[in-house]
Amino acid sequence: MDNLSSVISKIRRRHAKKVLLHFPAGYGPKALEIAKEIEKAAEVVIWAPPCYGACDIPFYAAKILGIRLIVSFGHSGIRYKYKIPVIFVEPRVEAELENLPMVPGKKIGLISTIQYIHLLDKAKKIIRSQKKRPFIGKHGPLSTYDGQITGCEFRAAKSIEKDVDAFLLLAEGDFHPKGLANAVDKPLYAFEPITETFEKVGKTSDKKINFLHEKNVFGIMVSIKPGQINLKAAEAIVAGLEKAGKQAVIFAADTFTPDLLNYSAVEVLITTACPRVRDDYEMFGKPVLTAAEVLKELPNLKKK
Ligand code: SF4
Repeated sequence: MDNLSSVISKIRRRHAKKVLLHFPAGYGPKALEIAKEIEKAAEVVIWAPPCYGACDIPFYAAKILGIRLIVSFGHSGIRYKYKIPVIFVEPRVEAELENLPMVPGKKIGLISTIQYIHLLDKAKKIIRSQKKRPFIGKHGPLSTYDGQITGCEFRAAKSIEKDVDAFLLLAEGDFHPKGLANAVDKPLYAFEPITETFEKVGKTSDKKINFLHEKNVFGIMVSIKPGQINLKAAEAIVAGLEKAGKQAVIFAADTFTPDLLNYSAVEVLITTACPRVRDDYEMFGKPVLTAAEVLKELPNLKKK
């Protein structure tokens, strides 16, 4: 994990004259302070759109700008085949976990998002002190550490699901807990280490998937972000919908905003990019389904 001084040393070691800085939303004035520090080692350009995750590295922009090194803040890394190297500056949030509640069951799968991943060892000891057995699963390709999940990749949980009675997730907000709850069939408990909020998280059943049967015109969103592009899924969805006598069109973009998708004839959007887009349905003014839920439901679609 890199802090700012090690980032500066790495920039110097690579003799990078110009670097592209990439921040998640919410960095605010901190981004400018960081840029000022990094300017001691290299010329700085800040990539203006807020970054979603490590899935969203602006390689093509760096290429056009003649930049040979990207520094991305707020996420852990993904291995890319692109030639422009990326330094990922991972976030960490300190917490004591002294009030970590007891989770029902004897065998507990421990999961975390990146900012609390360093607390899993502490959580493991606490679980053992409760006379329970902790399990930590192998991470998937979008994650860096065992036990880590992202909002769209849950391999660290799936890989131990058969071994555990329940999962305990360290995370904040409800995006990761909701995503994980929908991906696993064992009970899931989420603990927010800073606020010490603890809750059992159930599967989401908002019945939006019924739109797949009821509506006729679909827009399939394909992102060109290097870690989000999923054209294969989009093409499979188009084929499945057309077979059922529906109209389906692929829309490609970097980031989807309502003005890009202002095609009134489209009744339902399907995201093959970040599943977080599904939560923005109010912004789009149309229902948004995820590729995963649509692919699961397609075999049940009857021809009109
Ligand atoms: S949920 Fe997946 S696609 Fe969305 S930002 Fe996180 S890693 Fe990227």
